[in-house]
Amino acid sequence: MSERRFGAQKLIVSEIFGPTFQGEGYSLGRRCGFLRLGHCNLACSWCDTPYTWDWHRFSPESELSRLDVTEVAARIENMAVPLLVISGGEPMLQQAGLVSLFAHLPPGLAVEIETNGTVAPEPAVTERVSRFTVSPKLTHAAMSRQRRIRPAVLHAFAATDKATFKFVAASPYDLDEIETLTRELDLPDVYVMPEGRDPDQLMERMRALAPAVQERSWSLTTRLHVLLWGDRRAV
Ligand code: SF4
Repeated sequence: MSERRFGAQKLIVSEIFGPTFQGEGYSLGRRCGFLRLGHCNLACSWCDTPYTWDWHRFSPESELSRLDVTEVAARIENMAVPLLVISGGEPMLQQAGLVSLFAHLPPGLAVEIETNGTVAPEPAVTERVSRFTVSPKLTHAAMSRQRRIRPAVLHAFAATDKATFKFVAASPYDLDEIETLTRELDLPDVYVMPEGRDPDQLMERMRALAPAVQERSWSLTTRLHVLLWGDRRAV
């Protein structure tokens, strides 16, 4: 998908919401606002935000808005949060728009980007972002390895020294695949997050994963928003 079609002063937006809490990973529990961008270059079988990209099931006309970056920045500033989490979809498809947005954000606002790790960060994006949460997809996402794993791109994120690598795991068997991949590509700062869209399933999987994650000296993250609000959108 070409970035050019999106335009530099506009962003294709799925949702803007907050104040809320960052539900996953490095900044778990932190007060933040969310900017969820539309479109994705992957199609994970278990995707929890298919309304950003799956146009067989959803309508882009009703799900997405093409907003000027000044409007997006004003809505984020109104939230008065210390952290902005930019997610998707795949936000790295809209880096030109993000650079334009950054020029309108308060200088003290921390910015984190959640990405699938298949599109390398531009220098101007890396400079402004405080953290990348890079989430390479495993075999259970049901796509070819060539499509979901781009070694050069993952190395580019690792080289920023701002990246944590977060893997979604459904069972302890997925941890072997994570171990092989992170060793092969020498990826630092590994987080494991259970797949699950209701609190009971999430906790059951977390308990199953925890001992093996601990053994491998990785970090484990929950999905706080699922524990608090289940499968509800934009909370
Ligand atoms: S990369 Fe993320 S947004 Fe895209 S399909 Fe996979 S889980 Fe969904």
